[in-house]
Amino acid sequence: MESQTIRERCERADVKLVRLLYVGNDGVIHGHSIERSHLADALESGVPVPKLVQSFNALGQRIKDARFDAVGEVRLVPDRSTFRVLDHEARVAAVCCTLQEMDGDAAWSAGPRAALERLVSSLENDGAVPSLALESEFHVYASADGGQPDGDRGLYTTDGMRHSHDVVLDIIDALESQGIEVKKHVAEYAPGQNEIVTGHRDGVAAVDDYVFLRETVAGVADSHDLETTFLPHPFEATTNGCHVHLSLWDEATETNRFAPSSADEPLSRMGRHFVGGILDHCSALLALTSPTVNSYVRLQPQAGAAAYSCWGIGNREAAVRVPEVPSDERDAATRIEFRPADNTANPYLSVLGLLAAGRDGIRNETEPGEALDADPGNCDDERLAERGIRRLPTTLGEALDALADDDVLEAAMGTRLFESYLAVKRSEWEAFTASAATWERQTLRQTF
Ligand code: GLU
Ligand code: MG
Repeated sequence: MESQTIRERCERADVKLVRLLYVGNDGVIHGHSIERSHLADALESGVPVPKLVQSFNALGQRIKDARFDAVGEVRLVPDRSTFRVLDHEARVAAVCCTLQEMDGDAAWSAGPRAALERLVSSLENDGAVPSLALESEFHVYASADGGQPDGDRGLYTTDGMRHSHDVVLDIIDALESQGIEVKKHVAEYAPGQNEIVTGHRDGVAAVDDYVFLRETVAGVADSHDLETTFLPHPFEATTNGCHVHLSLWDEATETNRFAPSSADEPLSRMGRHFVGGILDHCSALLALTSPTVNSYVRLQPQAGAAAYSCWGIGNREAAVRVPEVPSDERDAATRIEFRPADNTANPYLSVLGLLAAGRDGIRNETEPGEALDADPGNCDDERLAERGIRRLPTTLGEALDALADDDVLEAAMGTRLFESYLAVKRSEWEAFTASAATWERQTLRQTF
């Protein structure tokens, strides 16, 4: 989109502030707001931000080991194609940004969005355009004291639909006014829990849309005086995932490269190898897709979130589900769904990890083994071992150790981003384990 068009749209909508958005290693959405009269410069050259934006963890702590200290700046450069006016907030527009070096056009090597852009372009050059949808679950609820949403609604109830009807209508209107296609709303398993299913988009655009979805849900809920949380395990007996649906397409022939040629197969050879790569790197991937201590409270057997490194057709307990689709829709709709991903991830890195692992599987022709047609949580150890199915990491620390050993994911992220990410995330794990000492002291003081 031309700068001129953006400025005109801002004038028409009487926008005062334009938010320049980015997501850090912490998985949190950040931004700088530009006053409209200064927009032209910001759209052309970006605005400076300190490199240390990549040194903060999700606990808001600045991490010394994260490589970037008080010295040095980069630029937050808007991707104008992502600009949109946020009708649900007063006089605000927003645009997704890439972190770039101060001079020239080069991306900063520790910037997550640019790392995904690089990987997507390389896949596109190989004739494999990723088509993606991030299926985000969240709670929207009234709470005077930060407590649990009330009620005991179960799965997909009409009571749940009525309960959140007003806020959901406003969320959907707001998303559609931004050009985001909304396919359905699901009143999920628990009181206040919702999912808005949006259409697939190519590459980085799908992730940008997801960032806008998060912003929109939070903004609309605020205007209804409701609380929002996307935390993986915010309350007892409920989990919020952010499943990633993914297929690769040949742009020239507009064909889905995951669609099988025979009706007996769930996936093409390429699709199968892609799954093989994901399962191969699954433990390390989790450090990108499920990157908080809380994520691992979600990733329990039989929580619908996936706890084992297996794949299955229509299997909601497998890390990779191949959704079942009617035979006349197979060419267009065949895809995979990665389930152990959540909303605390930096979505650019979550998708980057999946694409890099899948590409590695394609390159090495990695076979994923037979699809599992059972709940892995109900399989005995012998059956799991026979199939090479492993329990996925049960803590953030374990996943980070696996990531530290994963050369394929390091190469895809670039060493600078990889090292700073590991340092930031390790600090969260260390903060948690350190807090356990206090808990133990309090718990055991009377026992010994
Ligand atoms: N809430 C589940 C999760 O954390 C998923 C439920 C569903 O299949 O939609 O992944
Ligand atoms: Mg769901």
